[in-house]
Amino acid sequence: MRFEIVTIFPGFFAGIFEHGIVRRAQTEGLVSVALHDLRNYTHDRHRTVDDRPFGGGEGMVLKPEPLAEALESLGILPKGRDQGPGIGDQQKQGNDRTKGRPLVILLSAQGKRFTQAVARELAKVDRVVLICGRYEGVDERINELYCDMEVSIGDYVLSGGELAAAVVVDTVMRLVPGVLGNEASGEFESFGVADAEIGTDEDGVPRSQHGAGGLLDYPHYTRPAEFAGWAVPQVLLNGDHQQIRRWRREQQLRKTLRNRPDLLEGAVLSDEDRRLLEAIRREGAQQ
Ligand code: SAM
Repeated sequence: MRFEIVTIFPGFFAGIFEHGIVRRAQTEGLVSVALHDLRNYTHDRHRTVDDRPFGGGEGMVLKPEPLAEALESLGILPKGRDQGPGIGDQQKQGNDRTKGRPLVILLSAQGKRFTQAVARELAKVDRVVLICGRYEGVDERINELYCDMEVSIGDYVLSGGELAAAVVVDTVMRLVPGVLGNEASGEFESFGVADAEIGTDEDGVPRSQHGAGGLLDYPHYTRPAEFAGWAVPQVLLNGDHQQIRRWRREQQLRKTLRNRPDLLEGAVLSDEDRRLLEAIRREGAQQ
């Protein structure tokens, strides 16, 4: 998978993709990241990328011409004038991966919320182009003419799209097949596939030690068994994997109910899960 990032601050990314899994994915040739300096696509002495907004108002706006030139240098023509399919077409065709037109994403606070589900879709694409806005944003014609998606990483305003692009690259990259040692671990984390077939044992306890099924992950502990007077939960030390799975599932339910109750609506819950949730809610009501 290849990511192309269009930015006025390529130096921003120095070091960001040079650690851990992200670095390994690149050295193993599973993923590559290319940076494109928007100023290289200007033609005036000052390498101007911005201008004042039509209609007045605060700040500056990224001009369309350098962005269009940068995109066209990557082989991306305005929509309708290109040859290959975009992600919508890929989905219509039922293809998982395509060698067609790259998917062009505009990072924007006004975009569709970036979630793990969106990341899973993007991980099926071969080439993703990320456009980083600055100032008040990007001339809207670039969005309309070239972009397949407008993506926001959260309900807050950053000073530029670079941090958002880095978040998208990191999140999507680890879902590319082969990047994580254990392929399943991308599914069985917080926000893991809500509709996943996570098998259960006869007591209704999910078989996977990690199955998140749309819930948040359970808490993790490592050595020492006692730290600052705090012992790890005894159940994790007794080697009874059935009990451990059950405890972890209960912790997932507790944490999700406490921090992200909205996720419970889309989660895969067994009858046992529902009983546990009821008990946890009753506990809360009594306190
Ligand atoms: N005027 C814009 C608005 O109110 O929506 C904010 C512009 S912001 C200062 C500059 C750039 O940062 C945007 O063009 C976008 O690329 C990026 N940005 C800001 N917040 C973002 C977010 N939550 N997600 C993704 N990109 C964001």
